[in-house]
Amino acid sequence: MMELDQKQAPGDGAPLFAMVHVTRQRRGMVDLLCHVCGQPTTRNDRYIFPVASGGLVTLLDGSQQYGCNVPPIHRACTRRALRDCPHLSRLSELPLRCSWDEGRVIYRTDVTPGLEALAQTLPEGTEVVFSCYRLYGPEFTKRVLGARDAWGQLARSRRAGSA
Ligand SMILES: [Zn+2]
Repeated sequence: MMELDQKQAPGDGAPLFAMVHVTRQRRGMVDLLCHVCGQPTTRNDRYIFPVASGGLVTLLDGSQQYGCNVPPIHRACTRRALRDCPHLSRLSELPLRCSWDEGRVIYRTDVTPGLEALAQTLPEGTEVVFSCYRLYGPEFTKRVLGARDAWGQLARSRRAGSA
């Protein structure tokens, strides 16, 4: 398959938090690079934001597993993400430490939102990888769902408290 490669200029200009850089997204997912600083994460220092990132993927047997399309983050870098990312700062959620399950990389050839015009310029019938995600097993899926439940309960009690 072919990959879409986007021009890179690290450190140039201001970060665009609402945009996805397709090459950076894939490198981050495949090599488990930190979404904030771009450096490798290690098993002991690898976090995700379980509410803001990814979703459940329904498999052929009907079971659901967590799929994450956002690269992991170092613990120290979660502070910058929570402060500077407009989406995360609204959610006020806690980072979740990743487990031994690194998931498996799934490539996506559907067009990433925002890249429709570019996709029109690609040769017809060419399979192009735009993005990828990691699909996790039952253990980490359960932890993500637990974290999402806890976040939902806290959000509900906050709303009840302010009413
Ligand atoms: Zn980092």
